Amino acid sequence: MNFYDSEKISDLLKPLGYKPSENLEICDLAILNTCHIREKASEKMYSDIGRLAKYKNLKQKSGNNFKIAICGCVAQAEGKRILEKNKNVDMVFGPQNYHTLPQKLMETSSNKKILDIEFPKESKFDFFQKPCNKGVTAFVSIQEGCDKFCTFCVVPYTRGAEFSRPAKDIIIEIEHLAKLGVKEVTLLGQNVNAYKGVYFSLDGEKKTLDLANLFHEINQISGIKRIRYITSHPADMTENLIDAHYRINKLMPYLHLPIQSGSNKILSKMNRKYTKEDYISLVNKLRKSRKDLALTSDFIVGFPGETSQDFEETMDVIKKVKFAGSYSFKYSPRPGTPAYELENVINEDESDKRLRIIQKELLLQQNDFNNSFIGKDLSVLIEKKGKKNNQYVGRSQYLQPVHVFSKKEIIGKIFNINIKDITAHSLHGEII
Ligand code: SAH
Ligand code: SF4
Repeated sequence: MNFYDSEKISDLLKPLGYKPSENLEICDLAILNTCHIREKASEKMYSDIGRLAKYKNLKQKSGNNFKIAICGCVAQAEGKRILEKNKNVDMVFGPQNYHTLPQKLMETSSNKKILDIEFPKESKFDFFQKPCNKGVTAFVSIQEGCDKFCTFCVVPYTRGAEFSRPAKDIIIEIEHLAKLGVKEVTLLGQNVNAYKGVYFSLDGEKKTLDLANLFHEINQISGIKRIRYITSHPADMTENLIDAHYRINKLMPYLHLPIQSGSNKILSKMNRKYTKEDYISLVNKLRKSRKDLALTSDFIVGFPGETSQDFEETMDVIKKVKFAGSYSFKYSPRPGTPAYELENVINEDESDKRLRIIQKELLLQQNDFNNSFIGKDLSVLIEKKGKKNNQYVGRSQYLQPVHVFSKKEIIGKIFNINIKDITAHSLHGEII
């Protein structure tokens, strides 16, 4: 989502004459779009401010201006403190406020500090320019914020309450992307499968579309060949959505469905609103609906009170479900969340050990999944050139990166690719 937001920020600033650059020496403005989800991600911001401050001082010495703006969830959470701690920072914007950036940049005198983190009444989406995406895949934010309040998570505080964009706005954005040559859209939301967007039918009747209904609308946009969505909460995986994996032909057979833990005691302490039995039964239903569904998850190890028995239960679930790949994290205490106050903190060494064990198993499962395609065909959308001569890279229907050689330019096309080899991070094959 930060990637999507960064693109939008860049588009918003174009009319003011700003262009993105990788070369700090020629820049007038640096924007850090930050993540607050784990401590490490937040810390990055402070070290990056230090790096940028050096440029700012150099530029100021030679009589040039250089502004530093902080956007995203760290900006939302830390607010005024960032300006107090770092005299080099000029502006602090929350993730729901960055649409005001162009106006603020035009108004501000060179030394005025700006803090804009109040959740606004208007929606930033109404201020966006038409997308000018040039790739074959695009992210489209359809839902933001979260009302689930998992005890470890900052999202409900930094992104705010759950909000779904009106369905028509999303459809117009995707139709426009299709005209620009986009073939695959990934619908984004912190809790994307809770999507409920207003929709006015042709006769003016007001309806609410859920995510499955929205898939149905997007499925009819010619030019769009593939639909994906991320991230889904198990408690919002409705029958309608499960069925969509069978009915909607452009919906890819891939689902990121984080379970976080396989211990019911820990799931309850996390306020996840499901048990491991619920999760397993959901997976069975999904695999009945779409038997080749590739499933991935997120895991947190070392949540306060997680015993080795709880951890074993997580490992058991992993071995039962079999994932196509997953992300796993060491629990990171986030100030302001309920879990921050919990006792029975797990010591670092033990958490590190559990992380190593879980990652080893998840990697094994990922390799098993990938290896099962050797000698078989995958449907691959070619996205870009590879590093080698005549090499191209695309993604399979299961989101695996696939490398292939072709003398012809093939970006934007979908091929059946016979898989010959697997390396650490990708699959290699030949066009059939
Ligand atoms: N809405 C999604 C997750 C969004 S956050 C869901 O409910 O599944 C992305 C991932 O970051 C989470 O799935 C979780 O595994 C991880 N995460 C969030 N807060 C964390 C914390 N405090 N410590 C460690 N990992 C965390
Ligand atoms: Fe955070 Fe996801 Fe829980 Fe919402 S559902 S609070 S985004 S982990």
